[in-house]
Amino acid sequence: MNETDLSEGVKAYVEKGRAMVGAAAHARSKMRACKFDTIAVHGLYGLEAALMHQGSTIEPLYLSVSQHFECADHMEAALAYLMPSWTYGRIANPTQTYLEETLAMIEGYAFDGEVSACATSSGMSAVFMATYPFLEPDSNGNSARPNIVAGAKCYGGTFMLFSERYQRARGVELRWVQNMLDLGEWESQIDGNTRFVFGETPSNPALAMFDIEALAELAHEHDVPLVVDSTIATPALMRPLAHGADIVVQSLTKAMTSSGFGVGGAVIARHDIPSRVGPEGLRENFALHVKLLPLRDFGPGISPFNAMMTLNDMRTLRTKVDLMSRNATVVAQYLTEHPAVEGVHYPGLPDAPEHALACKYMWLVDSEHDYGEPVNRFGHLLSFTVKRGPEAARAMFDRLQMISRATDLGRIKSVATIPMISTHQQQGEVGRELAEIPSNLVRLSIGGEHPADIVEDLAQALQM
Ligand code: PLP
Repeated sequence: MNETDLSEGVKAYVEKGRAMVGAAAHARSKMRACKFDTIAVHGLYGLEAALMHQGSTIEPLYLSVSQHFECADHMEAALAYLMPSWTYGRIANPTQTYLEETLAMIEGYAFDGEVSACATSSGMSAVFMATYPFLEPDSNGNSARPNIVAGAKCYGGTFMLFSERYQRARGVELRWVQNMLDLGEWESQIDGNTRFVFGETPSNPALAMFDIEALAELAHEHDVPLVVDSTIATPALMRPLAHGADIVVQSLTKAMTSSGFGVGGAVIARHDIPSRVGPEGLRENFALHVKLLPLRDFGPGISPFNAMMTLNDMRTLRTKVDLMSRNATVVAQYLTEHPAVEGVHYPGLPDAPEHALACKYMWLVDSEHDYGEPVNRFGHLLSFTVKRGPEAARAMFDRLQMISRATDLGRIKSVATIPMISTHQQQGEVGRELAEIPSNLVRLSIGGEHPADIVEDLAQALQM
């Protein structure tokens, strides 16, 4: 909308909106100077914000679907996106906004650039919202079949979104990269019709990785964005934007909400990203573009209640991820020496093919404060294959006494699953072969229990 066409009343609200944007930018830049834990605890909800919310020290949980406006001019300015407002719960809500502000700041921690976030109803809707906008027709008249290039070792839901919804239902060509460590394989798949490059690192459940910096450089040479699903690492261990990635996807359902009380996701993006398609706004501020347009139209916003659950759990993310990672290291080492175990996937193991990359990228943020020097941490997730095949794997799974049998991860309670019959069941045998998921693979998400107790449960379950 052209500002000269606006009434004086609406213009006054646009002016008011500018002042609000300026105040938020000021508060953001002050908070960005703080350490990770401080940001995770407070986000943008400082003392001034508290006084605007009846003094509530914790971000209020707003359940109201809609915002009441002062007058028609206020409503018009808000709905034309000419001033900050939350308007209607499908698009925004104050509790959601506090979550998004914190997410942008922790994912953009120690990154010298602008970052924005858009919270979504689940991790899958975040993968969808982070990628779908790149599939629109090319306005330069190029009608060639678009393709997407993605690491095959990824969560089963992502595998299905790309293969079923994008390739089968929409005719997008899907080019899987099998050896994610091999930059040459990525390079051989990208061409003039590629719309985005996608990878999960470390991946679920194989814990495969790729070199983010090198892949971002490669994607940028082709003018396409690199989208990274960083759910397994969380920003406490790795922040891909600082390594050149354009968009980060988080399933907030996992370690970010380690209590297990909420489903959610997030698209977190740096500003000024490359793209061969889409309006200028998509390139300028991708997360805001998603929030104001595709998310408005498809409707996969996070519920305020789930946003609150995530906000609360995220305050202690760094400490919990440290604890869970240290416990996972103990468990991984124990399993490598167990006679009933065929192999263990954990990037922290010195002979893991990903170990060098994991040492490059996975650091506990601000760990010099706790340990006197920066320390590597390799996350809470590991997987292992059981000797004597799938029946032995199922038998050991059924014997677990404390570790839950569930399709879940990132919990403060340890959880086990068999990917072949759960998370990666629906992609079928061919899909599992592509993603290298054997039938005797067990995935373990290590929680905050004492590691000796976790090991004891595994020891009794592994007794064949
Ligand atoms: N990305 C990864 C790496 C995951 O492990 C998952 C779920 O397990 C998702 C995305 C999807 O998240 P959600 O279950 O919140 O939709």
